[in-house]
Amino acid sequence: MELKSLDPNIRTAVEQYKALEEKIAHLSMISSLVGWDQKVTAPKKGRDLFAKAIGTFRTEQFKLSVSEEMGSLLRLLSAPEVQADLDEITQAQLRERTAEYERFKKIPEDMYRDYVVLTSKANHAWEEARERSDFSLFQPYLEKIVDFNRKMAEIFGYDQHPYDALLHEFEPGLSVAVLDPLFAKLRESSVGLLERINRSGNKPSTAVFEQAFEVDQQKKFNHYFLPILGFDMNAGRLDETVHPFAQSMNTGDVRITTRYLQNNVRSAVFGTIHEAGHGIYEQNIDPRFEETVLSSGASFGIHESQSRFLENMIGRSESFWTYFYPKLQEHFPKQLEGVSQHDFYRAINSVQPTMIRVEADELTYNLHIMIRYEIEKALINGDIEVAELPAIWNEKMQEYLGITPANDTEGVLQDVHWSFGGFGYFPSYSLGNLYAAQLLNTILREKPDFYADIEAGRFEGIQEWLKDKIHRHGKLYTPEQLIRQVTGEDLKADYLVDYLEEKYSRIYGL
Ligand code: ZN
Repeated sequence: MELKSLDPNIRTAVEQYKALEEKIAHLSMISSLVGWDQKVTAPKKGRDLFAKAIGTFRTEQFKLSVSEEMGSLLRLLSAPEVQADLDEITQAQLRERTAEYERFKKIPEDMYRDYVVLTSKANHAWEEARERSDFSLFQPYLEKIVDFNRKMAEIFGYDQHPYDALLHEFEPGLSVAVLDPLFAKLRESSVGLLERINRSGNKPSTAVFEQAFEVDQQKKFNHYFLPILGFDMNAGRLDETVHPFAQSMNTGDVRITTRYLQNNVRSAVFGTIHEAGHGIYEQNIDPRFEETVLSSGASFGIHESQSRFLENMIGRSESFWTYFYPKLQEHFPKQLEGVSQHDFYRAINSVQPTMIRVEADELTYNLHIMIRYEIEKALINGDIEVAELPAIWNEKMQEYLGITPANDTEGVLQDVHWSFGGFGYFPSYSLGNLYAAQLLNTILREKPDFYADIEAGRFEGIQEWLKDKIHRHGKLYTPEQLIRQVTGEDLKADYLVDYLEEKYSRIYGL
């Protein structure tokens, strides 16, 4: 930006604002690093004190972002006559920061403090309830969390549906009015497709996975393919955790984790590919956005689109295994002897309704999300109450997936999200699938060699495309702007519906 050409008062304000952003970014970088350490390497006995230290850092970060100084700088720099003189990057920073500032400012301080205590207790209660499979242990906490979120929806404000106010935190600009028809279309087609798959006489065998796969060989294989996919090992690392995740410190230090299970070789392979999708996104954000609020993904849904694109559209394609299956066989000659590449491809794409969301296949996964979306909407709207959840959950499982949980542990208690108050989070997962399919349609049009490249193990061109269209922009554009800019249209359900229909018709001979 040409700071020199600005009015001196404005120039000073921009400099002060940017210094404040840097400070926030530094605090965030350190708390992320300690957070990663807690999950990956820290010895158990020291964890509680570090958890407190992270709390201190986050509080400082929060204070700076709602400080008087921040407020007056935002007011000054957001004036239309000032905005006109600022460059696009500064404008986008101010847009993002102002939205967050206004949101935070609306939360009454005492209410927020009570909520932090409540969710920390709720998390313990949820863990215990899940262990004992007893929803009633979690119910009183969840009632208070729902109550808080209902109040917050009113405080934040919304045009049509109170749930919109919560959705915005994860997917800025999205509303129930937009999401309902998208999800309805996806749900109806998925339920229909699942029925046809269930009736098919041509089901893939998954017997190959009912064997032990040595963990050290799995590690070798994962560390072998990760850099080939485009994950820069000089700007990141791969570690082990119980729950895989991706954590960016900055674009030069992005850490992902996976989990190796001897009796489930798929868990690590697809877990690593998934997290690599998140990680590559973060590594490729424009370095000019470093230390600003723009140095992260455009939204939860767009972030998830990058992990799903790599995991499903690429990692579960036949082309991918044309290249990698011989390598996998080299790592597991005994287990894969006599299993053809095509049979392996069909096996990794077998569809089987399961009680647990995180174990679901590419098709039924979205139905798990629909259940949560419909429940959250109705809860926030006051159409249903927390006490009814176990029964409603089981009814919907039967209706969409044709199975009923035997207990609350494999039903309504399976996810952590509600215990930390993450209402509005779940739709991001299916949004990610919708965005990913729409992006696939565009990349196939612009890069006709897409599958040929994958078959040859050439990922540079694909990653270049993703970087150019999505990654480098960070949070510069809203998700809506971004998807329109890349694909030429708003988000549509048709691309995912057609992709699933075509893929599974072929695999199941429908
Ligand atoms: Zn993800």
